[in-house]
Amino acid sequence: MQPVYVLGNGQLGNMLLEAGRRIGVDVTLMSIDDDVTVPADVKITAEREHWQPSKFISKIIKHPGWLNSQTFVDIPDRRRQKQLLDSLDLPTAPWCVTTSGTTLSQLIDTLGDRFLLKSARDGYDGKGQWRYNDESDAVLPEWKENAIAESFIAFDTEVSLIGARNKSGELAFFELTENFHADGILQISVKTEKTFDSYQKQAEGYLSKLMESLDYVGVMAAEFFLSTDGLLINEIAPRVHNSGHWTQAGASISQFELHLRAICDLPLPRIDQSGSSMMINLIGAPLAQEWFSSEGARIHWYGKEVRPGRKLGHVNFHHADPQILHNWLEQLPLDAGYDKNSLLAKQCLLGDLSL
Ligand code: AMP
Repeated sequence: MQPVYVLGNGQLGNMLLEAGRRIGVDVTLMSIDDDVTVPADVKITAEREHWQPSKFISKIIKHPGWLNSQTFVDIPDRRRQKQLLDSLDLPTAPWCVTTSGTTLSQLIDTLGDRFLLKSARDGYDGKGQWRYNDESDAVLPEWKENAIAESFIAFDTEVSLIGARNKSGELAFFELTENFHADGILQISVKTEKTFDSYQKQAEGYLSKLMESLDYVGVMAAEFFLSTDGLLINEIAPRVHNSGHWTQAGASISQFELHLRAICDLPLPRIDQSGSSMMINLIGAPLAQEWFSSEGARIHWYGKEVRPGRKLGHVNFHHADPQILHNWLEQLPLDAGYDKNSLLAKQCLLGDLSL
């Protein structure tokens, strides 16, 4: 089997490496700041879609093994991504490109009195976002010349779909996952049986259409807003995704193995994903020892330097019986320094969420 090189050496790359070891795929991680020579006969994938141009990156994207080259032109720029989704008739929030000459009143006329500006490139985890909420003293940010504006969507909840496609066009999907954010950062993902069944096929149809149009191989994630009007695509990630980490404990194959299979032209299996799963991100605080005595907790710690707001690890829970998962969650170390996700976990326990 051809070795796989991964652009990016963060936690996603490391989880790909771990999955590769298990199934005999030789995975090498490269930092975007490296300047290593990549052998000719390898496949190159990425664990990230944002980077600053450099000599090394130019070499990578010209390498014959660089996969999904058109996708990495279209998706990382929100203007191109939205144009692509529009051209495929895939539903998104109403939007427009902004320029240095765009005025507040033009945007209010086009998008209504609640909207967001999102930087065209490099925005993630809520970064590069500016919100207008009908304030009289609002001034558009200077970076408007490299941005899009988008109507504010009063969604009921946010869900994501992780799917994969291989070279022969085989497809595989995980079930829709419900995602809870705070400060633009994913805190908790929950996957229960049947909760979003009625949207599953539609979401799969959208993502298949996109992957097919790009002749994409590998795992791709689509984040959706879900409201009474149905699904709207918020954004696309051409890689393994934080909201798919539950698959490490809650499915017969993880998103990381699925990605490697898809890019290595291996068969995509039918996925057994029965039962309920939950993933809690560990953000901005050292690993609390209490997690080790939490029943059912499967801890993943990334070994990164602790900084406020930084994703440092995650904990997966899975059980066939949602009641047992519920019981485990009641004993979570809710005062272990993870303020935001502890609060959300509490809401789960109280039954406010769909668990
Ligand atoms: P993004 O960086 O686009 O994924 O946005 C981060 C988070 O901001 C999303 O997960 C939503 O919670 C929120 N958000 C983004 N776009 C919109 C929108 N058009 N309307 C309402 N909330 C949004």
